[in-house]
This record gives sequence, C-alpha cells and structure tokens, in this order.
Amino acid sequence: MVKFKKLSKTRGVTIPKDLASWLDLSAGDAVELDARGDGSLVITKHANTCRFCGGADNIKQFGDVYVCPVCAARLHKEVCG
Ligand SMILES: [Zn+2]
Repeated sequence: MVKFKKLSKTRGVTIPKDLASWLDLSAGDAVELDARGDGSLVITKHANTCRFCGGADNIKQFGDVYVCPVCAARLHKEVCG
C-alpha cells in the first residue's frame, strides 16, 4: 500500500486513517522511526516496556511509568508489605 503525503512546515506527516487503523495506531501512540540505508523510513508502533524489567507483556501505564504485572506486584509488596 503506497500513499503520497507532503511534509508539513515542521516536517510532520499525517498517517492516513485507513493505514493507521490497519496498523492499530491511534492518536497519542508512540512510534519508532527507523531510517534505513536504502533511503526509506520505517514507522513502527512503539511497544511499551516495563521500566523495571524491560518486559513487554501486559504492560500498564501508571503516571508516566510503564510496568508489567510481575513488577507491579513486587512493587506493591515492597511498598505495602
Ligand atoms: Zn517488569
């Protein structure tokens, strides 16, 4: 699927709605930008990872911190006894 878009004055680009929904991208999602040697730019949805162990399963956001259930349970135990 190839689409043509013009960059904005600040070099921004809007991802077309059909592409965004196909990639499960929503407003506010973080994306990774990977400039490749062939001149292409690959945009990938950023997977949130646990601040403490780096895991990526069932990550929850607490404030601006991402945490997995295992570390959340350990943290709860450490803080609350
Ligand atoms: Zn963790």
